[in-house]
Amino acid sequence: MSQTIRHHLHVLEAADWKAGIITLLEPASPYRPWRYGFAEARPGDYAMLVLGTDPVSVLTVLARIDTEEWPGGAMLDLRRYRANVVDLTTLAMMLDLEDAFTSWRFDDADAERLILALHESPIHGEPSYRWGHSSVAAARNLLRFDGDCDGCGATVDLSDSDARRQVHVHTADPRLRPEPDSPIWTSARQERSHHYRISPRETVTDWPAVLCQACHNQMRGGGHTSFIEFRFATHPQCPRCGAKRTRRIQYGMPATGPDTWGPWLLMAGCCLEDEDWYCDVCEHRWW
Ligand SMILES: [Zn+2]
Ligand SMILES: [Zn+2]
Repeated sequence: MSQTIRHHLHVLEAADWKAGIITLLEPASPYRPWRYGFAEARPGDYAMLVLGTDPVSVLTVLARIDTEEWPGGAMLDLRRYRANVVDLTTLAMMLDLEDAFTSWRFDDADAERLILALHESPIHGEPSYRWGHSSVAAARNLLRFDGDCDGCGATVDLSDSDARRQVHVHTADPRLRPEPDSPIWTSARQERSHHYRISPRETVTDWPAVLCQACHNQMRGGGHTSFIEFRFATHPQCPRCGAKRTRRIQYGMPATGPDTWGPWLLMAGCCLEDEDWYCDVCEHRWW
């Protein structure tokens, strides 16, 4: 009995994950890192993007084989804060995929399970998934890059043939769980705090970032290993009390939750004021 194939899921693979992400962020990039099979591709079929990170990862947003101009390619609707990556080995183990690393195409039940896991239940990813030094964490951070250096705000031209070397992903040590309370207390027992979850803004010492060549060099030259310390070092001293760790005031409604704002920023709401800087020590604001 012949069975009609209902689902195809094709594979596009970029062994050079950094070049791969650059072409996703900037379609005008001259890089051509993608390999693909597209055997018996039909317009509307889904395609899964695989990146040669370690471990190998998969983009959580599926592409679609272009309908009109075959052989055109695959369309990808990359909404920056939605795009993330998951580890392909784990995915293959959980979805029981036999040839996850060798096949250019998944059919029927395998394709359905993958489409269901990635497309039908969109994976957004918590900010905490961006910590750690693996190339998967680096890929997550580069995927969120909006084109402006996190250090100085200068635009990095991702369409440049040298973009791969001009954009640097700074990765940060993995985040630790909060310290537990001491199991020892006296009869005059004080209120016990239950810090099972705290904001990374208050606890982390480093922050993942995407940097331009100049900031990367400046950070290295200045001996900074933490991006938070590097940012604070570039801020002016408080003109009133002389405090050094001053914060940059950011106006407007942030598109993302407070866990994604670096500790060097002060979110000041929608009312645009003149002041650019804030001092935590004496609460002075200036521009
Ligand atoms: Zn920079
Ligand atoms: Zn001050």
